[in-house]
Order: sequence, then structure tokens, then C-alpha cells
Amino acid sequence: MRLDIYGQMKPAGARSWLNRRTMPLAASCPFSPDAEDEDALAGRHFPEACGRDPLIGRYEAAYVGHAEEGEFRGEGSSGGLVTWVAAELLRRGLIDGIAHVAPSSTDGDGGPLFAYTISRSVEALRQGAKSRYYPVELSGVLRTIRSVPGRYAVIGIPCFIKAVRLATAQDPVLAERIAFTLGLFCGHMKSARMAESFAWQMGTAMEDVAALDYRVKSPDRPANWYRAQVMLNDGTTREKDWWHMVDGDWGAGFFQNHACNFCDDVVGETADISFGDAWVEPYSSDGRGTNVVIVRSRELHGIVGDGVAAGRIALEPVDAGFVAATQAAGFRHRREGLAFRLTWWRAGLTPRKRVQASADGISARRRMTYRMRYGIARWSHRVFLVARLLRWRRFYLMWATAALSTYHGLAYSRGPVGRLVERLGLAGAEDGH
Ligand SMILES: Cc1cc2nc3c(=O)[nH]c(=O)nc-3n(C[C@H](O)[C@H](O)[C@H](O)COP(=O)(O)OP(=O)(O)OC[C@H]3O[C@@H](n4cnc5c(N)ncnc54)[C@H](O)[C@@H]3O)c2cc1C
Repeated sequence: MRLDIYGQMKPAGARSWLNRRTMPLAASCPFSPDAEDEDALAGRHFPEACGRDPLIGRYEAAYVGHAEEGEFRGEGSSGGLVTWVAAELLRRGLIDGIAHVAPSSTDGDGGPLFAYTISRSVEALRQGAKSRYYPVELSGVLRTIRSVPGRYAVIGIPCFIKAVRLATAQDPVLAERIAFTLGLFCGHMKSARMAESFAWQMGTAMEDVAALDYRVKSPDRPANWYRAQVMLNDGTTREKDWWHMVDGDWGAGFFQNHACNFCDDVVGETADISFGDAWVEPYSSDGRGTNVVIVRSRELHGIVGDGVAAGRIALEPVDAGFVAATQAAGFRHRREGLAFRLTWWRAGLTPRKRVQASADGISARRRMTYRMRYGIARWSHRVFLVARLLRWRRFYLMWATAALSTYHGLAYSRGPVGRLVERLGLAGAEDGH
């Protein structure tokens, strides 16, 4: 796997290999029509789970809360529970290492900012806390897990955890060694150019960036007001709110990976436990960060229960509807939006999804919203590439400003385009991301 010219991870290899269809690959790629789907995998791994929900899948229990112990919450992007649970598995001796995504040492060489690594101590694990909206790949850590005996946990977004499940189904060594999977809810994956664009908009070049924090936390600001920070090679830092970036509206789809157009798993339905942000009030206004948690493994349920009893973590039970409400926009885009997108491909290789192709009941405005997001995702890669090659940042920034304002106007009646849409009576009745 290598970063391509658009800053996306792509398989690299001899053309003869790339173009040849092999069954092991077809059965282990999370987007392959020949791979088991999330329902089948969850059915196999959690046959006794007491809850089932069309949006969040099988589950044992669901909670909202955060880590109380130490600095986990302050150091995490959300409530710090991912790192807390992973640390607890290490402390209890249930695993020897955890595969997660940490900053890679770039030293201003323009290499990837983040990569999967295996941490074997709580200290190393804590240094890798925080969300990375950055392309990564698993092959290196899977190779290590195959070659170094021990028990491991893997943290990943839903398609990565699905890939791990599919790989363990084919590889008994991986199956024996990967003892736990910790999922992150996912809106979609970004390309490496998102980081570069943020750097540009903070008045610097990627070569001068030593580190990037996508979500600097501040207890006195709402948790959902994302603020990015770059640290430069000279040790100085610069910060900017996502809302003030031309491509910082997550829902508009800038730099989204194309595969995400075909995803129907928001919450990591095949993971033993998964974590997201509690994007509902009062939690979204609490700058300290709050997780929603879905527990599927009984063993992990016991571990988080012990943590609550000892006051080391704070969790309130919630139902599936609460979890779904925290991800309302993500589910709309991956259910109704996916059904609509699937109607666009009538021939050729189309993914096998749990959602059926249908445009029924989708208003003209929502259809336009889904089309615009698709277009922004598709064109942001290309326009950015041209701006990069021409060394003309304003080319991309002007295009992105125009694209965002058109999207906001057409989809949400915001801004000058929105006022025009209203005046011309083009707006439909409903809305929401
Ligand atoms: C691409 C992406 C999209 C997301 N979209 C949503 C969303 O739509 N809705 C939502 O509620 N939550 C989403 N999340 C999850 C959210 O950002 C938090 O990661 C989650 O709430 C856990 O917070 P925490 O404070 O408990 O984790 P922390 O304690 O900060 O720990 C996070 C752990 O995850 C690891 N990690 C970070 N990035 C990656 C990655 N790309 N792949 C694998 N491991 C990683 C870190 O190394 C660390 O170990 C997304 C995360 C990612 C990476």
C-alpha cells in the first residue's frame, strides 16, 4: 500500500498482480462483493449478543461517558475511553501489544504524518491518543503480529476492523493472536491532502509541518467546534478552527475516499467494542469530550463494568436510539444517501451492500445534497493536485470556497447562494445534515 498522487492509500505492485483477481483478496477486502458482510461477521462473532438494531448492529450494551482516571480524557480527542480500554487490556496482561495510529517521525521530510504502530506499554499507547483523519494501512502491523508471538488488540475505523475480521477468517495465526478489536465510529476517511490544505490555510507549507493535531481540546469551547493545530519544524504552533477553513465542513465531503461512498457501517459493527463522539446535547457543548460506547464482547463488558464500579470511568447506560441520534448525519448519508448513490451504478462491478438501491421518497433537495457531496469529494482531489503541481494555492482555495458556498446554498439555504435559491423558490421543505 502506498500514497498515490492524490494522497490516498492504494495497493501498489506489478500490473500482472494488480489486475489478477484472486479469491483470498476478494474474500478479505472489506468492500469486495465476495467478502462476508457486517451482519454475517457480527453474527459469527457475537451470536449471543442480547441487542440487535438495524443501525448499530448486534450489541451487548451501550453507554455515554468518559474516562475519569488520570489524563485519559484530556489527552483523547473525545472522552478518552479508547485509550483507557486499550491501556486496561495491557495492564491486565490480556494483550502484549496494541495496533493503533500514532504520529510517524516525519522530520520535515514530507513523509506520512501518521502510521499504524504497535504499542507495548501504556506510556507509548497514551502518546498515540487522538483521532487521525489521515490515510493509513494495516499491512506492516499485521506482518509484525504474524511474526512476533503474543496477544494483540487492533484499533481501527469500521472497514479496517472488518478487514481484520476477514483476514483472521483466512489466517489461523492472526485469528489466534488478535484477541480484541476496538472500533472507532467513522464519518469517512480523508486523504493526506486535507492535512496539507489545513497547513496552507494556516499560512505554512507541508514540508514545514512537524506535527498535526486535528482536534486541539479546550474545556471552555464546545466539543464539536473542531480546532486544528500544526506544530512547525521550528517548534512554533499555529491553530485554526475547522469552520474557518474552506474545506472544514466535514459533511461537504472534501478529500473523502471514494470507497466511503459505498460504506454502510457507521459504528464498527464487527468490533468487540466501539467508540464515537456523543454528538447530542448536553455532551456536544462539553469541551472536555464525551464518548458513546457500544459493547459487543462479554469479556469487555465485564472490564468496563469493573472500571465504572471503581470510579475510574463514568458511564451511563443508553439505548440504541440514543447512539443512532449521536450519528444522525452519518446514518442518513450511509442509509438514505447510499441507497440513492447505488442507483447510479447499473452495470459493472457494484458492491454488495445491506442497503438496496432506491431513490424512493428522497426529496429533490436531498438528492442534490448527495450529488454535491459526491462531486466535492471527487473534484477536491483533482483540483488540489493541479494547485499543488502549479504551486498555486489560491486556485484550490478559490475553487473550494465556491464549492462550499454552492453546497451550503443549495443544500441548506445558507449564504448568498442560499438566498438566491430561496428567492427562486428552489428550496424543498426539510433539511438537516
Ligand atoms: C477517520 C475517522 C472518522 C471518524 N468519524 C467519526 C464520526 O463520524 N462520528 C464519531 O462519533 N466519531 C468518529 N470518529 C471517532 C472519534 O474521532 C474518536 O476517535 C472516538 O470518539 C474516540 O475518542 P477517544 O477520546 O475515546 O479516543 P482517544 O483516547 O483519543 O484514542 C484514539 C485511539 O485511536 C487511534 N486512532 C486514531 N486515529 C486512527 C485511525 N485513523 N485508525 C486507527 N486508529 C486510530 C489512536 O492511535 C488512539 O489509540 C472518527 C475517527 C476517525 C479516525
